[in-house]
Amino acid sequence: MSPTLDQHHPQIEFDPNDGLALLEGKGQPVTAKYGIPLAVLIELTHKCPLQCPYCSNPVEMERARNELTTQEWKRVLDELADIGVLQVHFSGGEPTARKDIVELVQHATDCDLYTNLITSAVLLNREKLAQLADAGLSHIQISFQGSDATKADRVAGFRNAHAKKHEVARWARELDLPLTVNAVMHRQNLDQLEDIIAMAVDMDADRIEVANVQYYGWALKNRAALMPTIAQIDRATQVVEDARERLKGILDIDFVIPDYYAERPKKCMGGWGRQFFNITPSGKVLPCHAAETITELDFLSVRSNHSIAWIWQNSDAFNRYRGTGWMPEPCQSCAFKEIDFGGCRCQAFALTGSADNTDPACALSPYHSATFKTAETEAETGATRFIYRNFAGGTLEAEPQDGK
Ligand code: SF4
Ligand code: SF4
Repeated sequence: MSPTLDQHHPQIEFDPNDGLALLEGKGQPVTAKYGIPLAVLIELTHKCPLQCPYCSNPVEMERARNELTTQEWKRVLDELADIGVLQVHFSGGEPTARKDIVELVQHATDCDLYTNLITSAVLLNREKLAQLADAGLSHIQISFQGSDATKADRVAGFRNAHAKKHEVARWARELDLPLTVNAVMHRQNLDQLEDIIAMAVDMDADRIEVANVQYYGWALKNRAALMPTIAQIDRATQVVEDARERLKGILDIDFVIPDYYAERPKKCMGGWGRQFFNITPSGKVLPCHAAETITELDFLSVRSNHSIAWIWQNSDAFNRYRGTGWMPEPCQSCAFKEIDFGGCRCQAFALTGSADNTDPACALSPYHSATFKTAETEAETGATRFIYRNFAGGTLEAEPQDGK
């Protein structure tokens, strides 16, 4: 999910007597220099019954015993509200795998935070969803893995997931919860895009996020089975353009094309440490949900003796790639450096071995043509078997039986 974020929250009024100023003892709001993001993603747990091969969780997932407790998450929510955050996106793993999900949503509501639940939906029943709505849940996003049950359940690695998601989507609308469909697209489901958009309209969703897989973590392990062909991307782009025209006022469609086929990188996270942070199940504060794949960075936790605002402003991990001073050539003398901020650090690390490099999605990167070639080659391999995401480090999908 990529919530719409704004760098500065103009209404932040800082109370010099509150905990942040006292904790840091500087007499200045620690939020002042960079501004606190309006929206924050909190990953309550890495537990999830699904096994998506492109999951954005790290390959080394956090065990339940390390997760923040209910009281710690409540303290985090209090602190986020105090420093001016307006929206909290509850994510995971599967956030409803936490027994305290209703209590945490209620607490966020009590802090006047807008709440969004990003869920696979398979653990929800109608009663739980109604409790969440009563607790003030503002919005729900349900992920779908395809337009038909056979394909979708295979991608998710979970039987009957697709049917369950439809059921929960129907309950969400009955309970008047605004609904977004999350559709993560790749070579093995991209040709269903038209049907997936139609499905979102049928379930009365307000919005669909059509997100092409980003290749780090689990997706990097599965890249050969997921990478789309250029022809597929061209068709999908046309499908989205036609649907946007046809469905004006009915369905909002977000669409992000895959980096490997781009000429210029995306402005990842709005720029490192500029518009976004997320908090992992054990409380680490990260500049993006994949940042832990950059193994040379250390991330501070909400369990440290620093406030979240201090970590945002002062920690080495946030400051390392902030702004433009860190950039190598060709970024340093490039006219786009304050437009895309050099692209994605995690992708630079995954593809070049150093997060200090220009994102290879950029045509000016010395790694670009090799990256493009890799994408083209892997898309043509015909590999189909997934490595499913799990705590054991992944399980290779069984060979298809009877030609299926
Ligand atoms: S991407 Fe799939 S496996 Fe990962 S958290 Fe979401 S639903 Fe679970
Ligand atoms: S050289 Fe750097 S700043 Fe210029 S377009 Fe490429 S990634 Fe962006």
